[in-house]
Amino acid sequence: MKPKYIISSCLVGVKCRYNGTCSSTINLNDMIEKGEAIDVCPEVIGGLPTPREPVEIQQTEDGIQVTSKTGNNYTNQFLKSAEEVLSICKENNITHAILQSRSPSCGFGKIYDGTFTGNLIDGNGVVADALDKNGIKVITDEEFASK
Ligand code: SF4
Repeated sequence: MKPKYIISSCLVGVKCRYNGTCSSTINLNDMIEKGEAIDVCPEVIGGLPTPREPVEIQQTEDGIQVTSKTGNNYTNQFLKSAEEVLSICKENNITHAILQSRSPSCGFGKIYDGTFTGNLIDGNGVVADALDKNGIKVITDEEFASK
């Protein structure tokens, strides 16, 4: 069966990043136009506005917390968005994902360490992690571009 992809919306020209911009590092729009992929922005699906506060993931004894530098806690919205994106993937028979690097939702393999200092650690964004744990093959835009 041909893979069907889900792609971070900000990678296909949607200005849904926290600062109201998109990421235009690679051209994935053809995949959308050919019906090979659909795009989602988990943070928008989770009910967050654009623009919005930047957030990072903190590891705590009770599990992950997703908070802004000012201490606002968005963990529930992120967990809800992961459930919703997973449901969209199941409804659309998605097998593969191309997601924005380092995002607290979409990042895969490397994310910021939760200190808002630009330091990267091994880890996954909340949505990327949920997709990976449910059998969807996740790669980042940077991995896809280097193929
Ligand atoms: S990285 Fe993911 S959550 Fe962030 S703007 Fe892009 S699609 Fe939305």
